[in-house]
Amino acid sequence: MLKLHNTYSNTVEEFKPNSDNVKIYLCGPTVQSSPHIGHGRSAVVFDFLIRYLAFLDYEVNFVRNITDIEDKIIERAAEEGITTNELADRVTKEFQDAYSSLNCLQPDREPKATETIDHIINFIEVLIENGYAYATQSGVYFEVTKFKDYLKLSGRNKEEVISGTRVDLESDKKNTEDFALWKISKENEPKWNSPWGDGRPGWHIECSAMIDKIFDSGIDIHCGGNDLIFPHHENELAQSSAAFENQVFVKYWLHNGMINLSGQKMSKSEGNIKLLNEYIDKFGGNVIRFFFLRSHYRKPQEFSEDLLEESKTTFKRIQDFTSSVEANVSDLSIIEIFKNSMNDDLNTPKFLGEIFEKINNLSNFSKDEEKNLKETIKFIFEILGFNFDIKDSVKINHDELSKFFNTFQINYDNLEQAMEEFLAKREKLRSNKDFNQADVMRDKLKEIGLFIKDGDDSAWYWENS
Ligand SMILES: [Zn+2]
Repeated sequence: MLKLHNTYSNTVEEFKPNSDNVKIYLCGPTVQSSPHIGHGRSAVVFDFLIRYLAFLDYEVNFVRNITDIEDKIIERAAEEGITTNELADRVTKEFQDAYSSLNCLQPDREPKATETIDHIINFIEVLIENGYAYATQSGVYFEVTKFKDYLKLSGRNKEEVISGTRVDLESDKKNTEDFALWKISKENEPKWNSPWGDGRPGWHIECSAMIDKIFDSGIDIHCGGNDLIFPHHENELAQSSAAFENQVFVKYWLHNGMINLSGQKMSKSEGNIKLLNEYIDKFGGNVIRFFFLRSHYRKPQEFSEDLLEESKTTFKRIQDFTSSVEANVSDLSIIEIFKNSMNDDLNTPKFLGEIFEKINNLSNFSKDEEKNLKETIKFIFEILGFNFDIKDSVKINHDELSKFFNTFQINYDNLEQAMEEFLAKREKLRSNKDFNQADVMRDKLKEIGLFIKDGDDSAWYWENS
């Protein structure tokens, strides 16, 4: 039985979704600047969850939004002298490229805030009608004292909230802790018509409105980084519960831990942001994914390039170990290990620990058992979203490869065909006992990042170096 930590109860609970069609909403990016390592972590750890739920035969309906209008986007676009749309489109593309390099599943829906404005306005109208929100000169606000369960999710107290709220901008609010649902825009800012004046939505209302629009009911899992618990998720919960008083908004709140650099939190204010795409280019999506697999998703995770190097070496062991077999469910005891670990609040490091104990003690295995182990490990890694189809996982420079293969009188059409011919030529050398020349071919190949393994079946693979 799958158990997951629910932030709301602060306990690990049995996972009992409302139906076999599991509804999941993950707070997506505010597309103001390039994705950093923390964005990668949130995307990958919840991708593990979604893939695991599918493995358990649940149908999954997965939504991840894009916040494409927000104060920071307006500021940043003004700094760059471009429109908010131009900035949002550019950064959205960067996020989507990163998600696909990390082999994260595409969401079933990926709504944008700017495409949900009508629904957001309707939602705010309901909140005003129900007596939870009020309009002023500067916008519409949610009156938090009206919602009795406010701060139950984050466990914060009112004093903390008040001391952390910026009061200068919204001086016509009734109470300091009230938060904006609608903001009246200034002259040169993007704006949409509304009953309260031309403006734009607040950040929190957007997710509540999207969830209501798409799912039309409460959802099973709401997830995101634990920096979103307050205020974002607390405010979402208040809004949605206030609008639909008889409905449980979210059954399970899941939050992943932050990325640390030498023990210090990575954040814009610390000025120590590590850009995701830089590391994807350097290490490839599999290695970054594997790095996230090594840590429990709820714990803070230390990040450094050395740790990525370590992940690269360890992942290569898995790759080499399984390179000669096809993925298959051949050893049920390994599947049990996998399920027991994942059912324990997605304990991926526990799973890795037990798998490596097997790999490190192969002398206890017969040849057949070893093959079963390899096939099953490959199967599980594919379930977890690792891509062993290596030719798709690196960027191939066709011109360079074409030039390279031409020096061996091989016409380059695609990598598979060229490598087939390359291996045949080399095999011929080897069968003529011209091992020196065969080694030269192997070494030349290595220089461009392609490796050959001589064994039962001659195999080759890319290494993204
Ligand atoms: Zn959200």
